[in-house]
Amino acid sequence: MADLKIAAVSKHFGQTAAVRDLNIDMASGEFVVLLGPSGAGKTTTLRLVAGLETPDSGQVWINGRDVTQVAPALRDVTFVFQQYSLYPHLSVYDNLAFPLRSPLRKTSEDDIRAKVTEVARMLRMEDKLQNPATRLSGGQMQRVAIGRALVRNPAVYLMDEPLSSLDAKLRNDLRLELKRIQQDTQATMLYVTHDQVEALTLATRIGVLDHGQLVQLGTPQQVYEDPASVAVASRLGSPRINLLPRAALAYLQVPETVTTLGVRAEHIQVCHPDTLAQANAQARVERIERLSDQYLLHLSLPGSEQGLIASAHPGELARPGEDIHIHIAHSLWFDAGGQRVRH
Ligand code: ATP
Repeated sequence: MADLKIAAVSKHFGQTAAVRDLNIDMASGEFVVLLGPSGAGKTTTLRLVAGLETPDSGQVWINGRDVTQVAPALRDVTFVFQQYSLYPHLSVYDNLAFPLRSPLRKTSEDDIRAKVTEVARMLRMEDKLQNPATRLSGGQMQRVAIGRALVRNPAVYLMDEPLSSLDAKLRNDLRLELKRIQQDTQATMLYVTHDQVEALTLATRIGVLDHGQLVQLGTPQQVYEDPASVAVASRLGSPRINLLPRAALAYLQVPETVTTLGVRAEHIQVCHPDTLAQANAQARVERIERLSDQYLLHLSLPGSEQGLIASAHPGELARPGEDIHIHIAHSLWFDAGGQRVRH
């Protein structure tokens, strides 16, 4: 456990600015998830913290110590990659013990056994300790890869899409376990993912990167409800936020600078006779999509090609082809550059 500070860090590769003037201050025990499109600089950020890249400028601080010039092995961080990198010829036990047997650490075999057993229990893999690493499922292999980070109990954990190669069920299971382990150990974690569910459920704060820049850093709720830009608003939320030209909602009084309106599906309500007075727009139901726990109404606005997706409860369902009244309870406003215009 330790705090981590990335202070004004920049990194170029030739002409490419991979990370630009990045500042992130993480308290001990925080779980920060980095989100962003491909090439945004997420992996480079982790590599800079690990010491696998040297910044052009700025510093990395771990537990109050400037480690910018410190070798990776001496930084007390561990890196878990997307592809589990186990030693195939070793058993699960020996894979987990391996980091503790490094010559840099002088850990006794008794202490190693205690630690490996503790971590195997956390990962619910006690009964697999003698298995060769090759005789494990993908999810079990990734558990061992995470376990190898846990046995070291480092100051900071760096995880680069550790669950992305797993199928949906394993991913869900391991996501929950990771959250539990992080809460139990109060580990400081910097974690990269493309998966918004992972980001929303794991993070104490989410950092959204775009073109090497941190465009927003906040709690999942802040980033979801109060996004700084169209890019951030579009990154979180399923279905994706509806983006409409300003003219699409004629009733709205918006400042001149606003060009785009963002409306989340849950903020569109279908009006019934008793709620008709609240209606502020009309729409036609094009089709209805049933998901496991909700319905999505695909709507079109009259006189335009503009589509709109609303989430609906069974009681609010209309029929395809039906013209309905809707109440748009909340909208987010953006300017021509995609930046938020606050009201
Ligand atoms: P992804 O989600 O695809 O993994 P990312 O957000 O992790 O992307 P990075 O891998 O950090 O992005 O890359 C940021 C930018 O820096 C990209 O434009 C990438 O091409 C470039 N880059 C990264 N590493 C190198 C390198 N070793 N040499 C040259 N360019 C690099």
